[in-house]
Amino acid sequence: MKVTFLGTGTSQGIPIIGSKHPVCLSSNSKDKRLRVSILVEWEGNTYVVDCGPDFRYQMLRAGVEKINGILFTHEHTDHVMGLDDIRPFYFRQGDVSLYGHKRVLKSLKKRFDYVFKTKNRYPGAPSVILNRIKNKPFEIGGLEVLPINGRHAELQVFGFKFNDFAYLTDMKTVKDKEVEKIKNVRVLVINALRIEPHRSHFNLEEALEFIKRVNPEKAYLTHISHLLGFHDEVEKTLPENVFLAYDELQLTI
Ligand SMILES: [Zn+2]
Ligand SMILES: [Zn+2]
Repeated sequence: MKVTFLGTGTSQGIPIIGSKHPVCLSSNSKDKRLRVSILVEWEGNTYVVDCGPDFRYQMLRAGVEKINGILFTHEHTDHVMGLDDIRPFYFRQGDVSLYGHKRVLKSLKKRFDYVFKTKNRYPGAPSVILNRIKNKPFEIGGLEVLPINGRHAELQVFGFKFNDFAYLTDMKTVKDKEVEKIKNVRVLVINALRIEPHRSHFNLEEALEFIKRVNPEKAYLTHISHLLGFHDEVEKTLPENVFLAYDELQLTI
């Protein structure tokens, strides 16, 4: 299985438009972060987790020619707003499969109403197949995916475990019985926003505590704000099995 980080930044991305913050001005390519998303590929299957506002460029940059579906963690703008750019895939392949909590699917119907219209459809509008995720395993491309339920302040969020790889983002609290599902996983990805605490995201300290609970072989941090600091400097401070993810990083699992 191959995982590509399409984006590793928080909701505004890095650099932030107009910002003079040193991290936003950094010339290190690892300090430039599009909105969070990953590409997961195995045996001819290509799935994306979330499709935020940078989806179009992320697909071009990664050279993606077809996708089998999109899994949504939750409905925040930085995770869904690229949905219109599934059109090239729709024109080539037909309806695109979307997977999400029923609340997320409802939100997509509201925000992208033209996609779901049945009468007088705009001819260029894409068409999708909705697949509701509950907190139990489901199958895509012959692989069992295990949802991991967590909270992003009050909002429910799903993380996903594919084989020995778990991807969780926008988490603030995760119950022990959910952690149990990913205990000792080989590779864990978890959100770490910044140094200071935040009401709905793990800060660095909370992410490191969470990693101890899961006890993975390796962990990668994502959904990173410029306030976390420079990539190369932050990485030096991390435990030896913890790394900062960066855009275009690829892992083979
Ligand atoms: Zn969010
Ligand atoms: Zn987010």
